[in-house]
Amino acid sequence: MTERPLDGRHRTIVRLGNPVLRERALEVPADRFGTRFLRDLGRDLVRTMFEDNGVGLAAPQIGVGVRVLAYFVPGEGGRDEVPPTVLVNPTLEPVGGQTELGWEGCLSIPGLRGMVARFPAVKVSAFDTDGQKRSFMAEGFHARVIQHEHDHLDGVVFLDRMTRMDTLMFEEEWEQYAQDKDLPVEI
Ligand SMILES: [Zn+2]
Repeated sequence: MTERPLDGRHRTIVRLGNPVLRERALEVPADRFGTRFLRDLGRDLVRTMFEDNGVGLAAPQIGVGVRVLAYFVPGEGGRDEVPPTVLVNPTLEPVGGQTELGWEGCLSIPGLRGMVARFPAVKVSAFDTDGQKRSFMAEGFHARVIQHEHDHLDGVVFLDRMTRMDTLMFEEEWEQYAQDKDLPVEI
């Protein structure tokens, strides 16, 4: 388990219904790189994500309408761990045409889970909070988390992406009926 960072501030996560979740977030201008505003925002996103037991959090989810997101991938279930990462002005390029269904939830839509189709891999271009350019390939769950968080920057939530609304369920029922069962993979 990744050690939880102690710096940064816990911020309140806004829930579905708050208009900031439905707006397109603004690009971070180049003159904001390396500023206290951006560094603190990145740290606050990571801290809040950990304290609310999420694996990803986008700035609009704490009421800040800029194109910044944070995530990490726990090294569980055969996945390679990806340490806490903050991306500024990220752009995604899907790799491989066929999408895959997988379960998602959202800290702004607490208590619900549903199946969402995502690209199995994406090429990511972004900056860190100091303006260093980062380009890398993300695959599997790593790619899913980034696509989910990137959607938040465009005012899109996972419910909008669901094509199988019969897979929408509450977490308790998901654990009871769906977590370990074979589920539809057709879209
Ligand atoms: Zn979300």
